[in-house]
Parts: sequence; C-alpha cells; structure tokens
Amino acid sequence: MNSGDAATESMMVWPAEDWATGLFQKLDPLPSGREPLRVEVVGGGPVGLSFACTLRAMMGDQVVVRVHDRRWKRQGNRVVWLGEAEGNHRREQVVTLQSNVWSTLPDLVRERLFAAGRFAEMWPLGPDSPAEKGRPRNVRIRWFEDCLLEMARDVYDIELVPGRYEVPETFGDTHILVVADGANSPTRTALSDHFGTPDRNFYSVGGEQLVETVLGIRVRGVFPDEYTVPLTVSQNRYLFNSLGGGFINMRLTTEEASELVAIGEDAPVECIRTYRCMMLPRADRFVCDRHRAVFKPSIDRLSFLWPRVLDGARLFGAGPRDILGITAFKLSMTQNARFTAQLGPGTFGFLIGDAANSLHFWPGRGLNTGVKSALSLAGTLRSRWRGRAFRSSDFSAHEGLMQQLQYREKSRAWTTMLMPDDDGTPRLIEDRLRAGLTGPHDRAELTRLLFERVKDVKARLSDRMGPVPGDDWYLRRINGLHVKTLAQLVESGPWITREIGGDEVAVHVDFPGAAAPVEPSWRHARTAHPVLAQAPLVEQVDPEQTTMTSLRDVLPALNA
Ligand SMILES: Cc1cc2nc3c(=O)[nH]c(=O)nc-3n(C[C@H](O)[C@H](O)[C@H](O)COP(=O)(O)OP(=O)(O)OC[C@H]3O[C@@H](n4cnc5c(N)ncnc54)[C@H](O)[C@@H]3O)c2cc1C
Repeated sequence: MNSGDAATESMMVWPAEDWATGLFQKLDPLPSGREPLRVEVVGGGPVGLSFACTLRAMMGDQVVVRVHDRRWKRQGNRVVWLGEAEGNHRREQVVTLQSNVWSTLPDLVRERLFAAGRFAEMWPLGPDSPAEKGRPRNVRIRWFEDCLLEMARDVYDIELVPGRYEVPETFGDTHILVVADGANSPTRTALSDHFGTPDRNFYSVGGEQLVETVLGIRVRGVFPDEYTVPLTVSQNRYLFNSLGGGFINMRLTTEEASELVAIGEDAPVECIRTYRCMMLPRADRFVCDRHRAVFKPSIDRLSFLWPRVLDGARLFGAGPRDILGITAFKLSMTQNARFTAQLGPGTFGFLIGDAANSLHFWPGRGLNTGVKSALSLAGTLRSRWRGRAFRSSDFSAHEGLMQQLQYREKSRAWTTMLMPDDDGTPRLIEDRLRAGLTGPHDRAELTRLLFERVKDVKARLSDRMGPVPGDDWYLRRINGLHVKTLAQLVESGPWITREIGGDEVAVHVDFPGAAAPVEPSWRHARTAHPVLAQAPLVEQVDPEQTTMTSLRDVLPALNA
C-alpha cells in the first residue's frame, strides 16, 4: 500500500477528534535553530485556500499558516461559512479547471475534489489540458471552496481566522503576507504604497474603463454535458458550463443591463444589481427572499430581456421550469504594476488570485491563473526558505512568472471583450448584439450561417472529446430560437480560437512525496491500527529536490 492509500484508509476509520488534528507531510527534522516560516493569507477563497493547503503539503511543519476570511464564523470549535441570511452569497457558478492546473493540486485535495458526481469533463483537450494530463474538469466553485476549507481545517491543520483582516501597523514576526482577497482587494488598496495602484487605462475604450454586465442563469440539466459545446463555441452571447445541469452566462448590452431591476414591497430596491443576489423561482416569477423583491423582467410582459433569457435556456435544452436561479455580475480589468513587494524588514508581500489578475471569465482562466500563481509562490517559498530572512532576489522568478501570466491572460481576455471583426477591426460585443436587432432578418440565411458554424466546430473538436449527437439535433436547437436571438448569435461571431489560443504559461513545480501525508502526533494510536501500522510512517523529502521553473509550453495551438 502506498502512503496515499494509507491516508484514505485512515480517513474512513479514524476517530473524528483525532482526524480533526490533521494530516500533513513531514519533512526532515528542522536543523537546530531553524525557525518555521510564518505565513499569513488574507482571503479564504479558492486561491487563498489552495495556496495554504499546497504550502502545508509541501513544507509540513516547517511552515505555520494562518488564513483570514470575512465570510467565515466560528461554530463550536469549527470554522464554517456564514449563512445566506448573514449576507454570504455562495457562488454557484461552474468553473473549468485545465489539467495543467488541477493536476498540480495536492493528491489529497484532488481525491476529495474529484469525487464521483462532483465534476464533469465536457471541454476538449487543448494546450493547457494536454492529453497526458487529461481533459479540463468542470467543478462548482462552491464545492471547490468547501473541499479546500475542510482540508485546510481537518487535514492540513491550518489556523483559520474568521473576520475582516486589517493591515497592521507592523508585521511583527510574519515572514510572508499573501494577499488573496479577490478582485476588489481591500488589502492591496491598503498597501498601495508597496504594490502601486491598478491602472484602468489599459482596458478602456475612449477613456472609459470597459465594464461588461453578465447574467448568470442556473439551469437543471437536460442533455449530456458535452453535447452543448459546439453550440457555445459557435457564438459569443451565451456560454454554458455544465455539470449535470449548470450555469448559462449571458452577456448583456447596456440597454439590457438597465432592465436588471428588483421591485420591493413599495419601490425598486438594491438587490441583484448591487449585491448579486440569486433570484429564485416562486410560482410564475423570480424573487429574492433576503430583499423581499421580485426580479422585474420575469413579470414584465414588455421586457425585452426576458424572452432572450428564455431563448438562451432553450438553446441548451432547458425550459422555463428548468431555470433554478438568476444572478448578475460586472466584469472589468486593470493592470497591476507589481505582484511582489517588501513590506517590512523581514516581511515580503504577494498578490495572488483575482487580487493579482482579475480577468473576464469568457476564456475561463481566472481561477486557473489564480491557482498557477498560488503554486508558483508555494514552490518558491518551499525552495528558498533557509530559516533566515528572505532577500528580494529570492522572488525574481516568481515575479517574472506573474508578469508573464498577466500579459498572457489579460491579452487573451481583452481580445474576447473587444473581438476583431473579419477585417481585424476590434468591435465591442454589445455593438455586435445591437447590430443583430436591426432587421430585416432572413431566417433561412441566419439558420444556414449558424448551422454551418456548428458543424465546423463539431468537425474540429471531434478527435478531442467524446461523442456528440448528429447534425439534426443541433439544427433543431437552432430552429427553436426567436429570429432576433438567432441574428444576435450570428452577429456575435464564433469563438476566436486562433487569436486566443497558442502558447500557455505553465508553472512546473516538482512535488516530491506529495502523496505521503503523515500526522506524527498519531504515532501512539497508529501502532494500534491494523492498516496504518503497516504503512511507512514518514516519507523523507529533501527540500533541495523541489525545483520551480516557469516555461512557455510550446504546444500546438487550439485553432484549426
Ligand atoms: C461567471 C464566472 C465564471 C467563471 N468561470 C471560470 C472558469 O471557467 N475558469 C476559471 O479559471 N475561472 C473562472 N472564473 C473566475 C473565478 O471564479 C475567479 O478567478 C476565482 O473565484 C478567484 O478566486 P480568489 O480566491 O482569487 O478570489 P475570491 O474568490 O474573490 O475570494 C476572495 C476571498 O477573500 C475574502 N476577503 C475579501 N476581503 C477580505 C478581508 N479584508 N479580510 C478577510 N477576507 C477577505 C472574501 O470573503 C473571499 O472569500 C469565473 C468567474 C465568473 C464570475
């Protein structure tokens, strides 16, 4: 039995109170006098937690990690998520993790995360999901966070601190401050003397920052996950990420976004637009219980938006009763000057995740980029910690990788916000959607154009994914659409896979002995356990074996 099996075995039979003390990988004994690395993480979202778990899995008791999050509370002696009534809107969206990314998570995290029924493989292989590592995997972001919180608390023995983090006057004996508190990052703002102020100009049009509004439509699943991929890739209005059901993301024009109104008992109230509340179905309407409000488009017979929402659901096979919730969010991008800064005599600070690089989600890279930044930082700390103060030169490679990621991912995302026309002229998605409304509309010609695109996408993807239905199935989906929706899909254009494909920035960290979690304080009980008694107690790990290189993975481009 390998030690990974031993760990799984122990989870099944170990008494809960012992199990809660945690499993972690033990390194060589600390050289005398060497102090453990002390790390504070601000933000227990998916990136902050995956960084914390990865670092503990790599460094064992050579590191002490504490994570702060304002969405947590203490319940008895456990830290858990605040509830909906306490203002914590958990994110239900489905995200796609590339195999270059999911394969780098610690073994124990992967085992838990990819339990049967908790993930789906619908997207094809590509440069960031090469055949030897496997296909991209869809997971619900809420499940990803739940798994990581559970692992951080119960397996990796990480200190979890509920509540808002405030930047202290001095950092005391903290060696590392990791800022992973999301796109609006209050900690990055408080530390702007060190990190600078994000610049909006790079991602502006006519002097105005480009901000897109997107509607998130949660639906019950009707078809096998991968059937819908050719429909998604043939246009830029609706994106369906499925997981036995899933999430349709719908890009809106400014006029459509102005319809996002919630009506309270006496007047319109701040709700979906401000707080991104999930509006839930009740009889013939969608409502928010927290604000006692009705989503106006769902009851407004004159709504332009609502029929388009229903058309989007219909395209992916979901009827009005299959819509389980509706939310909205805004997307914009800024450029960061730096990601690494010395904060005090013995303290370095780092931006990772959305705090470092908040991206438009259409190419599906935000979380992937965040986990890459977390892995790069964890690998750097693991290989550079010698028990005495770091120097700025220790982080040159990591900072370089962060700059590479920013360039690669923001260029890719910006191209999807301002897509080039056939003649190469950039054109806003909302201008395309508006153009689709201008008639007259030739239904037969629009159907032909979209159907040709779907068949072309099917042909290109056929050897990189599982079986999809025959052409007639797709034609029926197209025929079910209102002619204006059809015209908008045609105008929005197919995915620009050539422009956004190409070399990927990959982080390669050797993770020696990652599958060797052992909790030394269990030794007494362990010897009495029939299975664990046979397993090796400690897998020795040489810190020198860990190497971190950033490289451009020169793989064939996704485009045809
Ligand atoms: C619709 C949609 C679809 C997406 N699809 C994909 C996809 O397919 N693939 C992909 O890779 N990415 C996708 N993304 C992006 C992905 O969701 C984000 O990149 C990811 O959630 C960022 O994680 P994070 O941990 O950096 O930040 P967050 O998830 O924002 O977490 C930040 C955490 O910090 C906490 N916090 C904030 N301030 C403080 C404070 N002062 N003190 C303590 N705690 C604080 C917050 O409570 C929160 O828990 C998508 C995003 C959207 C909106």
